[in-house]
Amino acid sequence: MTQVFHRHCHSDLPFATRGEGAYIYDQSGKAYLDASGGAAVSCLGHNHAGVRAALHAQIDQLAYAHSSFFTTEVAENLASRLTDKAPGSLNHVYFVSGGSEAVESALKLARQYFVETGEPQRTRFIARRQSYHGNTLGALAVGGNAWRRAPFSPLLMPAEHIAPCYPYRDQQPDESLHDYGQRVANELEQRLLTVGPETVIAFIAEPVVGATAGALAPVEGYYKRIREICDRYGILLILDEVMCGMGRTGTLFAHEQDGIEADLVTIAKGLGAGYQPIGAMLASDRIYDAISEGSGFFQHGHTYMAHATAMAGSLAVMDAFEKDGVLARVAPMGEALDQRLRNRFGDHPHVGDIRGRGLFQALELVHNRDSKKPFDSRSKLDKRIKAEAMQLGLMCYPMAGTIDGQRGHHILLAPPFIINEEQLDELTDKLYQAV
Ligand code: PMP
Repeated sequence: MTQVFHRHCHSDLPFATRGEGAYIYDQSGKAYLDASGGAAVSCLGHNHAGVRAALHAQIDQLAYAHSSFFTTEVAENLASRLTDKAPGSLNHVYFVSGGSEAVESALKLARQYFVETGEPQRTRFIARRQSYHGNTLGALAVGGNAWRRAPFSPLLMPAEHIAPCYPYRDQQPDESLHDYGQRVANELEQRLLTVGPETVIAFIAEPVVGATAGALAPVEGYYKRIREICDRYGILLILDEVMCGMGRTGTLFAHEQDGIEADLVTIAKGLGAGYQPIGAMLASDRIYDAISEGSGFFQHGHTYMAHATAMAGSLAVMDAFEKDGVLARVAPMGEALDQRLRNRFGDHPHVGDIRGRGLFQALELVHNRDSKKPFDSRSKLDKRIKAEAMQLGLMCYPMAGTIDGQRGHHILLAPPFIINEEQLDELTDKLYQAV
């Protein structure tokens, strides 16, 4: 038994000792193909020479300088690299150490924005059912996962939850995809009118839902409608790209593909690519200007903000994306993965849906394909598939359906962008065996 307090007490985990490219090796030398990038983190694979060199160089020069005393060239460069690419006027970057911290920052900045602009009665958030935005108490308060919330209620902030955009489950037989997207987006307006739009701070959602629903991309027009509703009632739009951002869906920001602009965006995971803990919140001019013309001070902060070594590592990640053409691989390799999944699982009696964008894909598992009836959540199907896959030397990310039994289990795939065709074959073969 290990002394590290892991999520599951008495866990019996192998020791990871080495990583190379798309593989992690354990203490016995066994290789595991990292088809989930850990939890959609390791977008460059393991032991990347460019990131290693950048981290070494920064540590040799200056590992850390507290952000209330100094800024650094690496932090400024990383901020401008991100804002140059971000849609709209997301011109300000707040660097933190992970996804939950990024979400907490966004929630607090959104609240402070309304306090400073004279609408302090706005205290409520709207999110989507089954959503996950982090495990800290603020992020948990907005998330819509009943099982995660239950032990910790009452939670910090009032939040309302509307349906996610989930055509496989919820589109009506006589309804076009477009009409479905508009209908489900309109629930935001209905909810605003029920709770009083003047009490709401923001709507928060993951553009492409990751862990909780399995690479669920919005239908065309859904986010345009969401943006219109936010604007009509003066509420902010926060997009959580902690998992789907940083190139995972084929563009640096997932919401570039939806043709909308957000007020606040959170990123993490792929930004550090597993080499350093890092997260970031991007804020639009409107938010930044209101704070700077008001108190001039965002009432928030963390010790390791804009940590110089982390900044240098993430700059090297972005270099690899652009100069080494890694980001450009995502769309074609995503298609190659999609094709393989369809060939292998297209007729599988327990695979109800194959979906995703770029190298962010998932299988939804159902007991019965025609009725879409899910497996019982007590079946522990997710844990069994994970164990089976690990036995075969494959890391994938299976998740249970929701606690109310209304959704199927799914398996999320988020391999490194450097994955090759042969490794995609290995992934599909091993996944098929595991399922
Ligand atoms: N938001 C989303 C969409 C996530 O997927 C996650 C992590 N799975 C988080 C926030 C929280 O990030 P972290 O675990 O780095 O705190």
